[in-house]
Amino acid sequence: MYTFIAGAAIKENVPFPVNCNCGGVITIMPPMQEDKVVCPKCEATIKMIVIEGDSGYIIGQDFNGEPTPTLLPVQGSSSKPINLLTQAERNEILKKVKENIKGSKNE
Ligand SMILES: [Zn+2]
Repeated sequence: MYTFIAGAAIKENVPFPVNCNCGGVITIMPPMQEDKVVCPKCEATIKMIVIEGDSGYIIGQDFNGEPTPTLLPVQGSSSKPINLLTQAERNEILKKVKENIKGSKNE
């Protein structure tokens, strides 16, 4: 299992929560010593992948049938959590992310 962490959260040196899929919460105390944490609830090892800056979301692909881009949360970000977004807001973000991907490919 892995999760994405906002680089900005680590630079701020303020503890921040990382949510496990099981609902467990791990508090990360920057600076991080390791890139792995263990969930106290389900004992899963979670690998943390640091994303530069404070991008609230990252695009992932759901390969159940058609590859559908899905939003994955970047934890520690100051952006609104995905589960609090409306469907319209999610679509808007997905649209922006797709445009960014297109833009970077043209460079
Ligand atoms: Zn867990």
